[in-house]
Amino acid sequence: MIERSRAPDLRGFERIVFFTGAGVSRESGIPTYRGRGGIWERFDYREVACQRAFARDPEKVWDWHDERRAEALACEPNLAHRLIAEVQREMPATEVVTQNIDGLHQRGGAERVIELHGSLWRVRCDREGIVKEDFSHPFQPRRCKCGDWWRPDVVWFEDPLDHETIRRAWTAIENCDCLVSIGTSANVYPAAELPLVAMRVGAVTIEVNPEDTPLSGLYAHCLRGPATEMMRRLWPES
Ligand code: NAD
Repeated sequence: MIERSRAPDLRGFERIVFFTGAGVSRESGIPTYRGRGGIWERFDYREVACQRAFARDPEKVWDWHDERRAEALACEPNLAHRLIAEVQREMPATEVVTQNIDGLHQRGGAERVIELHGSLWRVRCDREGIVKEDFSHPFQPRRCKCGDWWRPDVVWFEDPLDHETIRRAWTAIENCDCLVSIGTSANVYPAAELPLVAMRVGAVTIEVNPEDTPLSGLYAHCLRGPATEMMRRLWPES
């Protein structure tokens, strides 16, 4: 019988996928969206994080995203981000699939990150079809030279996911031998379904979260605790 709370050593696998959510950045100081202290306790997404809000009041939506940029800039990648990057360096077939938009995996040293929900650090002009990286704060000017608004290149509520991005994530997960899900409530679809792909192909699946999620019962291993401590167990110092 599998001991579900035991952490297997990740060095025993070849093609690992880390599937991360807001919880992996919690110990860096970035609030999660749901749960106690979550962002949606303080804000209404209909005012700040959907296309209709942007059409109605782009300045307000940009102010809110500038606050999220400031919040992320004030935080540092934590041990979990750094260890995930170390795994990727040591085992180059490792992929990081994140729902996060904060850029902390990259700042922690990860070289390849599939960002399912876009990035706070990219903006796009839908009229001109341009996407560009931008790390300034506050973001200025808010209008493209064509006169239209730059839009944060993030997947807002009611937006579809980018087809190519989800295809890359799906392919990585379909080919993995181990999926480690860290800090996701498994409530945001379709991202929440991706770990099921790993289960279908017979990969070893590990959930890291201080709390149960709707998918906990399906994982081979459930590590109940914060991301940093659990990553240290999964990747002990050699
Ligand atoms: P969520 O807010 O719905 O859930 C966060 C999960 O993290 C919860 O299950 C919680 O129990 C867990 N958690 C809390 N502290 C933890 C810790 N120290 N270690 C490990 N886990 C911990 O987040 P979600 O599932 O990612 O979905 C919300 C959506 O909003 C996603 O698109 C998400 O990426 C986005 N979001 C991004 C950021 C960010 O970029 N940092 C922050 C908030 C939300």
